Amino acid sequence: MTIRDLLREHAPTLSYELFPPRTPRAEATLEATMDTLAATEPDFMSITYGASGSTRGTSRSVVQRLAESHTIPPLAHLTCVDQSRAELTGVIEAYLDEGVRDFLALRGDPPQGQADWRPHPDGLLYASELVTLLREVAKAHGVEDLSIGVTAFPAQHAIPQWRQQGLDILHAKQDAGADFAITQVFYEVDHYRSLVADAREEGIGLPIIPEVMPLVSVTRAHRAAQLTGVATPDALVTDLEAAEDDAAARSAGVAHAARLSSDLLDAGAPGIHVITFNKHEAALELVSQLPLRRTSD
Ligand code: FAD
Repeated sequence: MTIRDLLREHAPTLSYELFPPRTPRAEATLEATMDTLAATEPDFMSITYGASGSTRGTSRSVVQRLAESHTIPPLAHLTCVDQSRAELTGVIEAYLDEGVRDFLALRGDPPQGQADWRPHPDGLLYASELVTLLREVAKAHGVEDLSIGVTAFPAQHAIPQWRQQGLDILHAKQDAGADFAITQVFYEVDHYRSLVADAREEGIGLPIIPEVMPLVSVTRAHRAAQLTGVATPDALVTDLEAAEDDAAARSAGVAHAARLSSDLLDAGAPGIHVITFNKHEAALELVSQLPLRRTSD
């Protein structure tokens, strides 16, 4: 069953985000993490895709491994920045031939620090164009059961000058053929409520799955804020700083993530997508605290 169908029939869903390993040791950790998380019977696992190009091949092999060794659908992230239409078409065709049916269509971020960087002359500018290309390639391949996710940004939506542009972009993705959205990380349930309410007003009916990141150390909290531009709440930083050891910090971070997740489910979220950093401990602690129906129930 595709994620589009799971969201219709099995919501709220549980899912995890993994990233491609860079070293043999990291690969072994990922393998173990995948097996441990699989035991919680998630509805899908997503695998990020390096916009910079360095780990694209590894992403593909993780997606393949997940598809081959587990019954859990892989959600293949796919970025279009810095690639030609022909290159992207080749990647999509290879995935389709391997049986992958769920994609997260992204533009990805251009390489940083390259002042002379220009978009690929025969490439795509936005994620919405990648949604269109995915639909075209699937059609040419006779694949009908394609399911496509896109991104949404609750914390940015809380900033008035960004709000309408964000909604217009999400609308363009829906018009191009997206089936669902996954959010960037955020920490206020009201940011999610407001994004969903305004999206519905604008005629955007996509299920919007919130992404939840259990932050288990001050270092990780600072790094996440740097990467996403979304500030970590002071109360969470204070609790992480007060923790006596790693286990206490993890419990504190998981407690915050569990409160947010429960509030999101109460607000009608169609699932929870957990960022794992390829580690299982915090994700398992979090999931054990959530009122999520498992597929075998
Ligand atoms: P888009 O939504 O296309 O946005 C890209 C930029 O173009 C934005 O600045 C947007 O404002 C602008 N834009 C979009 N459409 C229009 C339009 N019609 N007119 C004018 N401007 C427009 N990055 C990776 O490299 N690999 C990953 O695997 C990955 N996974 C992610 C998963 C999630 C859930 C999220 C939230 C982000 C992920 N990212 C990933 C980061 C993401 O690619 C960046 O945040 C990116 O800057 C914006 O999102 P996008 O890729 O969906 O592209």
